[in-house]
Amino acid sequence: MLVIETIEDFRRWRQEEKGTLALVPTMGALHEGHLSLVRIAKTIADKVVLYIFVNPMQFGPKEDFGTYPRTPEKDIEACQKEGVDAIFMPKMSEIYPEGKDNSTKVVPPAFLADILEGHFRPGFFTGVATVLVKFFSIVQPDAVIFGEKDYQQLLIVRRFIQDLNLPITVYGAPTVREPDGLAVASRNAYLSKEQRAIAPRIHQLLQEAAAKLQKAQSKNQDEMEQLLKPIRQKFKEANFELQYLESRDADNLQPVSPQTKKIILLVAAKLDSIRLIDNLFVS
Ligand code: AMP
Repeated sequence: MLVIETIEDFRRWRQEEKGTLALVPTMGALHEGHLSLVRIAKTIADKVVLYIFVNPMQFGPKEDFGTYPRTPEKDIEACQKEGVDAIFMPKMSEIYPEGKDNSTKVVPPAFLADILEGHFRPGFFTGVATVLVKFFSIVQPDAVIFGEKDYQQLLIVRRFIQDLNLPITVYGAPTVREPDGLAVASRNAYLSKEQRAIAPRIHQLLQEAAAKLQKAQSKNQDEMEQLLKPIRQKFKEANFELQYLESRDADNLQPVSPQTKKIILLVAAKLDSIRLIDNLFVS
């Protein structure tokens, strides 16, 4: 497996590669969720590249950019084991030579990017879309794989790839969970023992909410609001600071309507300063 650290070296390697290439974008601190994307990537392309870049543009001024977990040696070992062909881990100065604030930006449409995560993390999806377009342009992948764990991100990536006419196929991958249901995430490493014991409530309460909505068979947003109210209360009782728990149309994250084919529940909840997100389809 190659470990490539500069854009120039990456481009040189890429030019020599003749087959198809699948890219797995990550911020490192790799876990089973990331590795599940690699396994899917291996089934759809001849070569698999995983990049690691903790992207400052997608962190707010009060967020955890400085303390975000960084485990490069462990990550390299894990990728080697999974049969990744190349890890690309460029320095900040290569990706933002003039600094992140002086970079051209890619701004996804507000109806998708300024709601839910974007409401609580202003500018987040501009940071995500900008860095992805930069990496897509360097790596030139035929396919990219993203986790459904970050469902809004997956939809926004699909959207800007379409809007910018990029010749890249997007694959979504199911969320990998711990045995107790907690979605695997790099930020789980921040959880204390007590918080770790509470965190699986997120998935349990999502399941409870999904069962209620399923039973009601409603496609009326106001009716769903009423059904979700007691679940929101349960998040608070379990000591979460609930940022949002919403039912949305899974195709476009807009309010559920009679036209909705599939409903998704999305949640962001904090335990002290640790922010966890998750989602669940209402089947
Ligand atoms: P991150 O390093 O957090 O930016 O995540 C990189 C990619 O891994 C994104 O496409 C995430 O959606 C995906 N991912 C993170 N956690 C999981 C998980 N538990 N299951 C599946 N994919 C995940």
